[in-house]
Amino acid sequence: MKKNTYSGIQTTAIHAGEGPDPTTNASAPPIHMSSTFVSEEAAGFSAHDLTDDSPWLYARWANPTVSMLEKKIAAIEGVEDALCTASGMAAATAIFLTFLQKGDHVIVSDVSYAGVAELARDTLPRFGIETTFVDMADLEAVEAAMRKNTKLVHIETPVNPILRLTDVKAVKEITLKAGALLSADCTFSTPIGAKANALGIDLIMHSATKYLCGHGDAVGGVIAGSKSLISKLRLEAGIHHGGVMSPFNAWLISRGVSTLPLRMEVHQKNATKLAKWLENHPSVTDVKYPGLESHPQYDLALKQMNNFSAMLSFQVGNEEAGKKLANKMSQKLEVIHYAVSLGHHRSLIFWMPTEDLINGSFKLTKRQGESYRKYAGDGIFRMSVGLEDVEDLILDLERVL
Ligand SMILES: *Cc1c(COP(=O)(O)O)cnc(C)c1O
Repeated sequence: MKKNTYSGIQTTAIHAGEGPDPTTNASAPPIHMSSTFVSEEAAGFSAHDLTDDSPWLYARWANPTVSMLEKKIAAIEGVEDALCTASGMAAATAIFLTFLQKGDHVIVSDVSYAGVAELARDTLPRFGIETTFVDMADLEAVEAAMRKNTKLVHIETPVNPILRLTDVKAVKEITLKAGALLSADCTFSTPIGAKANALGIDLIMHSATKYLCGHGDAVGGVIAGSKSLISKLRLEAGIHHGGVMSPFNAWLISRGVSTLPLRMEVHQKNATKLAKWLENHPSVTDVKYPGLESHPQYDLALKQMNNFSAMLSFQVGNEEAGKKLANKMSQKLEVIHYAVSLGHHRSLIFWMPTEDLINGSFKLTKRQGESYRKYAGDGIFRMSVGLEDVEDLILDLERVL
């Protein structure tokens, strides 16, 4: 393969993994919507025979458009390889079911994307996998939770939805000592903000549905890491469990990734401005954004994030006030969409009541609940600040606050 003659992150985002189509000289990459590929020789098709220069065989093994995106993401992350999956949840499932087996123990962030929390709590024990849920901001608790059979620690930073950070370097030291793998859901921090490889994360996971795609029109997931770890994932999760990404989604997400560094600059600029405006608004009682000096872990954010991304949360008092405002937002907002999901060019906002999450998805202990409340009070509005003119976002929020 030709060696890259560039090193800039934006050039990498645009060019890595792609190039003019050799058959047509088309400048833009084609979409290879082919499930199977004509074999030029009678080759075996066991997944175990797969090598780097295996010919294209069947799209669950590999597809040229999906491979293009995998190379692009691996290049941005600065790691050897990546596996694209059908969704972010498929990526989380891939990690758990590839690297854990009966009798193993996994430590998972006590607060995380609700689907991941429920998967770890409800599904893994059915396969004989022991789970412990820990507040990852409490390093003593992480250390105390480690066991002889701990094979994996799964963090999320910043954590959905409360934007609490994990000191990745410190947790990496703990996992290293124990010989366990460290996986991290970096969906909120993105490949631009997370410094994931430099901090020693073994399995870098993203819901590609969010910032990587960036336009709210495709669902996907990705795990990036060393060749040996990703090969295991490709065999188990891709070829055998089958949760692979469609070429069409890979093409859309690849187009999104091309502008990721540029978009993240504007996302951060808009979010910082909006967070500061919210902090000064009389109806707002609290704002959490890693890029604000008032964030309880601002020093850690400065140390381990290259970009603060554009997820913020704010409070307006008690749960009743929050519910009332949520209703008003769903009726009256004209620019911001009252909707779940995040990382799109359009701004999105959604109400997240504290009790529901503490007792529902997360089932937190008393002490964990107290830590959650420190960040979320009686409930938060989780906002994904988009790429619109920030003045219009401010006017829109002014309409309802
Ligand atoms: C959305 C999200 C997921 C799940 O991703 P899907 O693509 O919706 O399956 C996992 N983790 C985080 C942090 C997310 O925001």
